[in-house]
Amino acid sequence: MPTAQAAKRPLTILLAAPRGFCAGVDRAIQIVQRALERFGAPVYVRHEIVHNRHVVEELERQGAVFVEELAEIPGDYPVVFSAHGVPKAVPAEAEERKLLYLDATCPLVSKVHREAEVHYAAGRHLVLIGHAGHPEVIGTIGQLPFGAVTLVETIEDAGRVTFADPKKLAYITQTTLSIDDTIGIIDVLRRRFPAIHGPRKEDICYATTNRQAAVKTIAERCDLMLVIGAPNSSNSRRLVEVAKSSGCIDAHLVQRAGEIDWDWLQTVDTVGITAGASAPEILVQQVIDELKQRFDITIEEISVTVETTHFKLPRALTA
Ligand code: SF4
Repeated sequence: MPTAQAAKRPLTILLAAPRGFCAGVDRAIQIVQRALERFGAPVYVRHEIVHNRHVVEELERQGAVFVEELAEIPGDYPVVFSAHGVPKAVPAEAEERKLLYLDATCPLVSKVHREAEVHYAAGRHLVLIGHAGHPEVIGTIGQLPFGAVTLVETIEDAGRVTFADPKKLAYITQTTLSIDDTIGIIDVLRRRFPAIHGPRKEDICYATTNRQAAVKTIAERCDLMLVIGAPNSSNSRRLVEVAKSSGCIDAHLVQRAGEIDWDWLQTVDTVGITAGASAPEILVQQVIDELKQRFDITIEEISVTVETTHFKLPRALTA
């Protein structure tokens, strides 16, 4: 770090907006906090409520206990399902055990679940465009009986997948994908299966769309993009990819300021900063504070839109 006397090198920070928390993440965190207020600790949460360690640790301090499966809950305690959604078997198991459960599934994920059910009821086989193993994908596949959904992850998958009845197909998508990659996959599916049904665009949510648009807008002006988010956060990882494919030479995902490798900034004049939908603004501010210690910074915030989306809490917590 430079001494107090040494002149700091100038650095321009382009701050992408919107960035960070979306309405679905905000709602999920509020559900856990309200449940703690109403029922007292412990409140169990199945899976990380949102993919961010800072958020999880803060809620743990308030009395939340995170588990991967309901079987780990030792008794009759309230349980919250994470924002990513859960297979139908999970609420069924909670009901069987007579557990009080609160579903923090983002309403935009629930919308995809409903689309899947409507297509299935119409006799269509579902193609889900998404990433294997992501909890949202597991939750969406788990809305329908085994074998009703085929997962397509890449453009190559879309080019080779086959179906028993190609005239009875529909596609749905994970909400946090790269828009450009998804459009490519949909184009291949539509070309190979012209009768395939699907949403008007894709199911990628407004928050993912806006964060990617903001990164695209600043990418070419940045020598480096820092994306604040967790390694298991799908939308954060996509922001790194979008930055690189939109003209930013170097882009890194960091969970917090302490993960920045200062060698990345050795020849950088302009750094872009954004945050995934599950990363709180405090982590962005900590990164800016660290940059301020080392550089003579100028901050320019570039906003592509102002978000006003807000989701209601479940009635069980507001009545
Ligand atoms: S990223 Fe999109 S789908 Fe996921 S919680 Fe936020 S608004 Fe909902």
